[in-house]
Amino acid sequence: MNFHVMTLFPEMIERAMGESITGRAIKAGHISVNAVNIRDFANNKHNRVDDYPYGGGAGMVMQAEPVYQCYESICRSIGNSRPRVVFMTPQGRTFNQQMAEELSREEDLILLCGHYEGIDERVLNRIVTDNVSIGDYVLTGGELPAMVMIDAISRKVSGVLGNDDSSEIETFYDNLLEYPQYTRPEVFDGERVPDVLMSGHHANIDKWRREKSLERTYDFRPDLLENANLTDKDLAYLEKYARSKENN
Ligand code: SAM
Repeated sequence: MNFHVMTLFPEMIERAMGESITGRAIKAGHISVNAVNIRDFANNKHNRVDDYPYGGGAGMVMQAEPVYQCYESICRSIGNSRPRVVFMTPQGRTFNQQMAEELSREEDLILLCGHYEGIDERVLNRIVTDNVSIGDYVLTGGELPAMVMIDAISRKVSGVLGNDDSSEIETFYDNLLEYPQYTRPEVFDGERVPDVLMSGHHANIDKWRREKSLERTYDFRPDLLENANLTDKDLAYLEKYARSKENN
């Protein structure tokens, strides 16, 4: 999968994405991250890409033309195809795991990062297919949100995680939070790893993990349970768990 990031700070993206798991995925050719500097498409002496907002008010606005030319250049570089263009904006739909999975099926994806007060609406109207926010707060630029998206989407691209299972049964899979994890040593500060995990009995381990997943989701994110795929056994367990909490 190929990510094309339209940004005023390409080094920020290249440096961070070149590390750790995304870095290895780039080297192995599972993904590519192409950060394109919008400033390269400014058509003035000082490479300015922002100007005062019409109607007055604080801050500066990124101009339409350089953003549009940057977009056209990316499209030309991939055989004139028109991939989806995600505009990073606090006004967009909140990014989640389901969106990450859906977007991981695209071959090319353009991520557009705003700065200052935002981008001239006319170019957004022409090129943007999806408006996406990473949460209800305002950041200084779209680079961190774009990197959050690239990271989450990449994990769903085949081959990026060594073991495909590790992105299957984890938090948000099936709208449940993941069970707690333990590793060596067996005893830490007087606390032992739960016996069942040391038993080697796989059916019991699976049952324990499912129950812990249900408990955690009930405790931390009960809103998720509404859309979770729960069996009769799960529901009975949750009822029992809820009753035990009421009695405590
Ligand atoms: N004036 C804009 C508004 O009120 O909607 C906010 C502009 S913000 C200071 C600058 C840029 O940061 C935005 O254009 C966007 O690309 C990015 N940004 C800020 N917060 C974001 C968020 N929560 N999710 C995604 N992008 C965000």
